[in-house]
Amino acid sequence: MNILIMGPPGAGKGTQAEVIVNELGIPHISTGDAFRLAIKQGTPVGVKAKEYIDQGLLVPDDVTIGIVEERLQQPDCKKGFLLDGFPRTLSQAEALEGILARLNTKLDHVVNLKVDREKLMVRITGRRICKVCGTTYHVVFNPPQVEGICDKDGGELYQRSDDNEESVEKRLNEYDNKTQPLLAFYDSKHLLRQVDGDQDIHAVSDELISLLRG
Ligand SMILES: [Zn+2]
Repeated sequence: MNILIMGPPGAGKGTQAEVIVNELGIPHISTGDAFRLAIKQGTPVGVKAKEYIDQGLLVPDDVTIGIVEERLQQPDCKKGFLLDGFPRTLSQAEALEGILARLNTKLDHVVNLKVDREKLMVRITGRRICKVCGTTYHVVFNPPQVEGICDKDGGELYQRSDDNEESVEKRLNEYDNKTQPLLAFYDSKHLLRQVDGDQDIHAVSDELISLLRG
């Protein structure tokens, strides 16, 4: 089964992606991981991507698309995959159509985690991360036993520098402008499945899995 997971920043995409790949036994294809793999393996697009990243430049679309195409050609994707973080724009979505056509396959489901904007802001700005083990907490929804301290190892909790209101606002606007239009694109292809992302994590997972298992 070939799945694309979508949702605004803070919707819990990463958490739910892990649940889906574990349940369905398919690889999780995130753009970040695909980049790291291509660079590590030194593939032609990986080498190109590294040049941009090393110079602190934005990786152009054709390189990103090349990385995704390379990743989707790997044998582990034959049984299906979960795409996460790509496509982010309509032109990338169109490029993905081309990639899948060349691989003689198609998307089966596009799941979108829906969460209201005000709630996303609260979710993201309240996030705190352990410096030692990386566990994520939330000052309201999932607070540690002692404020500012990790329950597991006593590590200090910090807030990611871009989890402040101003930069979250920017990320949400960018999502609305560039990525939101993809929902209509996939809806017109009858692939879009909306899931209420504003529920308990386990309730969201249950809804997702029963939807995908059909
Ligand atoms: Zn910790």
